[in-house]
Amino acid sequence: MRHIESIERLIKAFAGLPGIGEKTAARLAVFILNAKKEYAEELAGAIAGVKEAVRLCRVCAGFSNSDVCPLCADGSRDASTVCVVGDYRDMVAIEASGSYRGAYHILHGLIVPLRGRGPEEIKIKELVERAKTNGIREVILGMPFNAEGETTALYIKKVLEPFGIRLTRIATGVPAGSLIEYMDPRTLGRALEGRKEA
Ligand SMILES: [Zn+2]
Repeated sequence: MRHIESIERLIKAFAGLPGIGEKTAARLAVFILNAKKEYAEELAGAIAGVKEAVRLCRVCAGFSNSDVCPLCADGSRDASTVCVVGDYRDMVAIEASGSYRGAYHILHGLIVPLRGRGPEEIKIKELVERAKTNGIREVILGMPFNAEGETTALYIKKVLEPFGIRLTRIATGVPAGSLIEYMDPRTLGRALEGRKEA
């Protein structure tokens, strides 16, 4: 059966979201059709609004509503230590551990050669630029311990080597294959404190 065009459009849009298959997309579309008009408007407005208001911080590439995010603008943080993470949610998880007072760099992805995602698709060039100019003394590789994380960590190690920056990797208590964002704050805090030379 074919849906009428506007419903088809909505289903397609939902199906583009991560983890949403065709059936779930159709279920969500029907939910919207049955929902109050105000809810549909609020949802559409929230999506448009976030794209309008949020940009990437000039320093760390994290999400921000100003040129430099509040974290990078916070003078009480140690800007000479930079924890590099693949995803914004990893940064949020590390912040939640409360045991880190340095800066971040958000890559917005990891290197996945099999899916055609090379180093130029993520914010590595920006990290190198930062290493050139910003007086970084230590870079903590906060990648997960899976194939993508290892590949990305190795690549960053290679490109940062010429700068003589101390390179460390969070280690203790991080189970193999684990994703940073799902780690409990205490384990993550200990993993950061127990970081080892990369
Ligand atoms: Zn920032």
